[in-house]
Amino acid sequence: MKLVGRYYLYEGGPVSSNVYLIDAKNLTIVDTGIGFNMGGLLREIRSDGFELKKIKFIINTHGHPDHIGGNTRIVRSSGATVMMHKADAKTLDKLSMLPIQIPLPRMLNPKVDNYLGDTGDELDLGGVVLEIIHTPGHSEGSVCLYDREHKVLISGDTAFAYSIGRWDLPGGNLNKLRQSIEKISKLDVEYMLPGHMDYLAGKDKIKESLNYCMRSLSVV
Ligand SMILES: [Zn+2]
Ligand SMILES: [Zn+2]
Repeated sequence: MKLVGRYYLYEGGPVSSNVYLIDAKNLTIVDTGIGFNMGGLLREIRSDGFELKKIKFIINTHGHPDHIGGNTRIVRSSGATVMMHKADAKTLDKLSMLPIQIPLPRMLNPKVDNYLGDTGDELDLGGVVLEIIHTPGHSEGSVCLYDREHKVLISGDTAFAYSIGRWDLPGGNLNKLRQSIEKISKLDVEYMLPGHMDYLAGKDKIKESLNYCMRSLSVV
């Protein structure tokens, strides 16, 4: 479903991440869910008027199985280029087998074509420019994607609405998560699109949510 501007949301179920589609000149998917109900997801994408074969890029906010499970299926239809931060791409063998929510059947590890760099890199999708913000803490290679012009932040599992990602999984680090949330709380954001649960709209609400997370982290 259309969320705002060029951004579409396909909600994840209890064990799957949200999937975002960006209707830029180069059609882009951010995270592909756990991959259990790809038929349903692909139908929804088509019913919003998009052709799978036109998908150019898949960006994974990190390498957990609930975010990368649909990569292989989408690449098969589109030949899309898959991008992920190098820290997670290099440990994908371990990360993709983590039983994040439920034990997983053996998954095919998706190929990763390009490594996302550290904070400061930009991806020009055509009409939408995403800044890559390296936000380790939930995993070593977690990134947030910031569209400065449209004030949209895709926050992966780093920050949710009034909640934060786990830091107790391999590669997680509480101190780094704290620093990462501090980093994104300085951005000018009108829409925060997290990896799970509801999105947040409105600068004040987003600031309040991130401040709330910072406060709860300071007492851990
Ligand atoms: Zn997740
Ligand atoms: Zn995760």
